Formats: sequence, structure tokens, C-alpha cells
Amino acid sequence: MTTARRIHPWLGLAALPRLSASQADAYQRSRTAERRRTLSGLTVTLAFLYLLYAAVDVLILGDVVLLSLGLRFGLILPLALVLFWYQAAPARPIRAKEIATLAVVIAGNLAWCIILAASENVAVLNYYYAAVVFQMVVTIALRPGFDLAFQASLVVAAINYGFIGFIEGVTPGYVAYHLAIYVPCFVLTLIGAHQLESERQRAFLQLHENETLKRELSKQNDALLRLSSTDPLTQLPNRRGTEAEIARLRRVMQPHDLETTALLVIDIDHFKAFNDAYGHGAGDECLKQVAEAMRRELPGDVHLARLGGEEFLAVMPVAETAHAVLLAELLRGAVSALAIAHDHTGDDNRHVTVSIGAACGSIATDPSLARLFEAADAALYAAKAEGRNAWRVADHLADPLAGTAAGERDLDRPATNAAA
Ligand code: GH3
Ligand code: MG
Ligand code: MG
Repeated sequence: MTTARRIHPWLGLAALPRLSASQADAYQRSRTAERRRTLSGLTVTLAFLYLLYAAVDVLILGDVVLLSLGLRFGLILPLALVLFWYQAAPARPIRAKEIATLAVVIAGNLAWCIILAASENVAVLNYYYAAVVFQMVVTIALRPGFDLAFQASLVVAAINYGFIGFIEGVTPGYVAYHLAIYVPCFVLTLIGAHQLESERQRAFLQLHENETLKRELSKQNDALLRLSSTDPLTQLPNRRGTEAEIARLRRVMQPHDLETTALLVIDIDHFKAFNDAYGHGAGDECLKQVAEAMRRELPGDVHLARLGGEEFLAVMPVAETAHAVLLAELLRGAVSALAIAHDHTGDDNRHVTVSIGAACGSIATDPSLARLFEAADAALYAAKAEGRNAWRVADHLADPLAGTAAGERDLDRPATNAAA
């Protein structure tokens, strides 16, 4: 929190927050669009009021009508129009527009003083109290930054009191009365300008902090989601990652494409014996190597996950049985080619192998996905039963109503246990 908490109790002022250079820059940029609109709106209102006061000049000071109309309409109106054009450019910094606006107000103040000083009517003494209006305009009406409001206030005061000596009928007593009204107005409007600036900057900092926090939180959420969807041992997606991938596929794919998805369940053979013989550490290392080999072998758009234990799952969208067969053989061959020694298989194999069950069908709904999974699992059992280091593809899905197991077709077995 960069907000300074120091208070000026004698003025009831909270200190302005301390903004770093980049924050001050962002603060100015954040105000640009909103400020541009309010400045233009204020310019129209103030110009209208200023021109309307020509009527007041005519009513109160009949002797300077031409001068009043000449200065108000001949000088200040064109200046206000140029200012309006200057404010409209979106790229111009808001501070430059505020300075330009204050300059035109000061010109208006100067013209007003000239009109009143030129009058010989004694009513001008009462009218001259309206000088405080210019003080209010450059502070709380235009609401520039406090530094600009303060500087403009000094210029406006210098003009008003520079001209007061030329006002018809002025006496030292009048100047004292005038100051009695002007000075409190000067101080109070500047306090108001300071508070407005302070509140604007605090609101900006608060927003800035909230947004930083939100971004940080969203980054941490993403990291957490990635972590909770990844298996720490193999760095493959886990079951949660698979659920997210299925959900993504359902979102992005055409419904009919979801009907032909290949699902492969891959299970390491005799892995318990491997663990028992070589230890859990070697088992972990084996899991990693198997995962890496399979990931290397698969195209990027095929999802490969570790479901748990020594069981993996591959999902290939828009695939037919022929694709499933290709993938299954690819994976079986890749693991077998690792030639990780395993002398305790209890069969002819002397290295680590996998068995694979595959099925093709719909992943469009949870029940259809469950059926596909059951079919692939049943095919895996068949591959295990027939000697391992093999794959089977279910040729039709389990009938969910009858609760029957998937039928397996003994597809051309390119790699039998003996061959590997
Ligand atoms: P099958 O050929 O029929 O699949 O037999 P299997 O021994 O591979 O199957 P089983 O389900 O009997 O044993 C799986 C073993 O996998 C049991 C467990 O010790 C081991 N395992 C599961 N998760 C991990 C793991 O994260 N690390 C290690 N090292 N072993 C694991
Ligand atoms: Mg196993
Ligand atoms: Mg298993």
C-alpha cells in the first residue's frame, strides 16, 4: 500500500497518496477518457454562462455594453471554440487540456476585469464581488489536479486584485470587505480541490491493487489447476486432466465427430512382480520411461494420461478402429523396444511390456463414455488373458441394458508375446 496515511489535521486534509512514476502515469491515462468528456461538457456550460453574463453587464453597467459584447463574443467565444477543438483530440494528454482550459478561464477573468474597470457606474463595486466565481471555476468546477488548481488560483487572485484599484469608487474599506469574502473562498475551494484530488488518487490506487490481486489470483488458479491435473511422477495428465480434456473436446468438436473416438487402456504387465523384485524406486523409474516412450510415439493431438497405478489411457478423437489398431501396436512396440529387464514375469517375456484394450465409439455423454471405457477395459482383459504384450480391439460396445461385456475380435495380432 503506497497510500500515505499522514493527515494535516489543521486543515482537515488527508495527504495525497504517494504515487510512483509509473503509477502517476497510469493514473493520468486512466482519467483520460472520462476527463475528456467532462472537460468538454464543462467548457460548453462555462462558455454559455460567460456569454449569458453579457446580459448582466448590460443591465448593471449600461456604459460598457460594446466593450462587454466585443470582449465576450469577439475574444472569449472564439477562444472557447478553439479550446473545444483542442480538447476533442483523443491523443492529447489530459493535463495539457486542463492547462488550456484554465488558460481560457483566466483570459475570461482578465476580460471581465477589463470590462468592470472600464465602467464608471458605481454599481460595479457590488458586481466585483463576483470575482470569487472565477476562483470557484478553476478549483472545484473544473477539478484539475491540485497543483494546477493552486497555480491557477494564484493567477486569478493576482488578476482580480491587480484590477481592483481601477474599479470605480474603490476604497481601502471596500478592498477589506472584498478580501473578507475572497480569502475564505480561496482557502475553502483549494481545500475542496485537494480533497477531490486525494480521493481520486486513492480510488485509483485501490482499483489498481484490486486488479493486481485479481491477476495474481487468476495466475495462481491456473497454476493450481495445472498442478491438480498433472501426475507428478510422469508429468502426464491424470484422471482430472482427462476429464478436463473430454470436457474440452465436447466443447470444441462437432457432435458427430464425438461419436467416433478411439479409447485405449494401457496396462503394464506383471508390474507388481517388477516392484517386488527391483524395488519401488525402480518401479517409479520404469513408469516414467514407459510414459515417456508412449508420449514420444503418439501424435500431439492424442491425449495420453496416467489413470493411476500402472494404467494409462489414450484418447484419439475422430478415429476409426483401424486408427486404434495402429496406435495400439505403436504403443506396444514402443514399450517393448525400451527393453527394460524384467526377469520375473512368469512367462516367456524377459522385459517390461504392456497390454492394451481399445474401443471406438462415442464420448458425447458420460454414459456413452463409460460404455466405451468398459469396452476398452474388457478388451484389455482379453489381451491379458491371451498372454500379455498384446492388444485387443472391441468390435462393438457393451449393451448397457443387457450389461454384457464387450465382444473382442481377434484382430490380426502383429506382435504376440513370443515375437517380442
Ligand atoms: P498384470 O500383468 O495383470 O497387470 O499384473 P500387475 O502386477 O501389473 O497388476 P497388479 O494390479 O496386480 O499390480 C499393479 C502394481 O502396480 C501394484 C503396485 O505395487 C504397483 N504400483 C501402482 N502404482 C505405483 C506407483 O506409483 N509406483 C510404483 N513403483 N508402483 C506402483
Ligand atoms: Mg498391470
Ligand atoms: Mg493394473
